[in-house]
Amino acid sequence: MAPLRARAAHSSRLVAADRRGVAELAAAVAKTHDAGLLRFLALAVPEWLPVERRLQRADRVAGRGGHCKLCRRGAGEVPLSETVRHLYVCECPDMRAALERSVVDGCTALVAAGVSIRGPCRLPPESALGSGPVPPVGELRWVPVWFDPRRLFWMEVVVRVEGHVIDYGRRDPLGAVFGVLPKHLDSLLAWSRTVDGWARRSLKAQEELRSRLQVLLLRGAWQVYRPRAGIALPKVWPVGPCDGRGAVKSGSMISLS
Ligand SMILES: [Zn+2]
Repeated sequence: MAPLRARAAHSSRLVAADRRGVAELAAAVAKTHDAGLLRFLALAVPEWLPVERRLQRADRVAGRGGHCKLCRRGAGEVPLSETVRHLYVCECPDMRAALERSVVDGCTALVAAGVSIRGPCRLPPESALGSGPVPPVGELRWVPVWFDPRRLFWMEVVVRVEGHVIDYGRRDPLGAVFGVLPKHLDSLLAWSRTVDGWARRSLKAQEELRSRLQVLLLRGAWQVYRPRAGIALPKVWPVGPCDGRGAVKSGSMISLS
């Protein structure tokens, strides 16, 4: 899962890719007052979740190797360190199942808000487009659901302004999994189908849908991380109060499981 801004500092790659999207995600999560979710967000955005790569950087790998202990990627002749980005493409069945659940939960939230979803399929579905009433503005299109790394689910959107599409080549895939929303999502989901036509979503309904998706997707990303957090790593990862100079004092433990 390659970062969009590979040249940015490691801890600021997601912010460099979409500063506004990350700020909106943080604001939505703050409203939940969920301390665990806020802690996960604080470690996920700078890619500081406890993984083997972080232990290597801190010289605390203790001879166990930096490879992924779940799928064993990087354990061969070409050693590779497990990174936060690897967690979301890991072949471990538990991780994959958790990621699929997160995608399904996001799709379910969209369907509940009146968005048509089709899948899983590799190509855009042929159904619905061209049938029934046409939207009063723009044109109908099927586009891949942005938070599915496999691109197997499709959502029906109304493209009102050419260029207001989800440019997957200009989005950080890790941010998408964490709940950073596409720039033009409000425009694409501004209209919803009714029994006899189309209705414009109110601004309140759009805002509620945005907040629901942001929190839901971040919770899903947290669930993907849980199997990783459960294999002893938290016991050796020291987290304590910041000393005011960006360093972290050892002596206390964090549990994200
Ligand atoms: Zn793995």
